[in-house]
Amino acid sequence: MGNTDSVLGLQRRQLIKGALAVSAGMAGFSVLKPVYAADDMVVKGPRVPDVKPSKVSARCHVIIAKDPEPTPENQGMFSNMGFIITQKGVVVFDSGGSVQIGEMLIRQIKKMTDKPVVKVFNSHMHGDHWLGNHAFVQEWPNVEIYAHENMHKAIKEGVGEFWVNMQARATNNATAGTVITAPNQVLKGGEVFDMGDTLLRVHYYGKCHTDSDICLEVTADKTVYAGDIVMTGRVANMDDGTYTGSIEGIKKLKADTQATNYVQGHFKFGPKQADIYLEFLETLYGSVVEFQKQGVGPSEMKDKVLPKLKKYRDWKGFDGVIGRYIALAYTEAEANNF
Ligand SMILES: [Zn+2]
Repeated sequence: MGNTDSVLGLQRRQLIKGALAVSAGMAGFSVLKPVYAADDMVVKGPRVPDVKPSKVSARCHVIIAKDPEPTPENQGMFSNMGFIITQKGVVVFDSGGSVQIGEMLIRQIKKMTDKPVVKVFNSHMHGDHWLGNHAFVQEWPNVEIYAHENMHKAIKEGVGEFWVNMQARATNNATAGTVITAPNQVLKGGEVFDMGDTLLRVHYYGKCHTDSDICLEVTADKTVYAGDIVMTGRVANMDDGTYTGSIEGIKKLKADTQATNYVQGHFKFGPKQADIYLEFLETLYGSVVEFQKQGVGPSEMKDKVLPKLKKYRDWKGFDGVIGRYIALAYTEAEANNF
């Protein structure tokens, strides 16, 4: 999208539409219908270009987002979207960060199967993983949308508004028209769904990346959709999570599932992703704990820990966020000492 005057005019209308969507979102937190302006002003950001799904295992697929952050160019698509084609229909794991991204995912699914999407799982409360719910409700009004109970709570507290605004700002309103569409099913962890040719098992390990992370195990494929509790190649946001919780969570996930494939919420999938991320977390947090014992203070901690993390330096976002995440680890380690 170029910066011509007419485009700016469109953007202004999109802003108004975004504001409408947000106020509609605050009116109630059930599934919402999109709000349209006058007929010729159905203001919506442009469609998102198709991205071909990657095959993970017999039933499991994922659309990989190549960027680590939302930009006008990627139209807010910076998180992966998974789907599982089962005997009893298609199951989606993460619906994307806007209605347009969700619609793109639906187009790709329809190229591969005539089966409807019967279930959508939202991995956690960060909106890049679930604002696409809107597209699925438009296409299949009775679709079941599942999320952990803590995500339902976060949506009541306004996390949806925060993310709609953030995505719109970061993309010059390419995500305009996205209506906050809350999940309509509540998970606590431990649920099992029989999809005919495979079971789906929901795993919840407390506060890891957030307090609302669920993982979905596709038992017949030994594949786990891990959301953001497994992240390699990009330094994960730890502002809403804990290091010790993440470390324990990944260990339990590995033991519970013995998966041969981990699909991350960003970037990659592969057999070793849980191990690689576990090692990263243990190195970062373990170093901070060790140096704290030696009396290293918060101001010198970054310089001490950085050399230990050498092999992760090419992870996206490393230089920008690692200082802050070492500081978070410091605070967490200190708190755990008392
Ligand atoms: Zn996240």
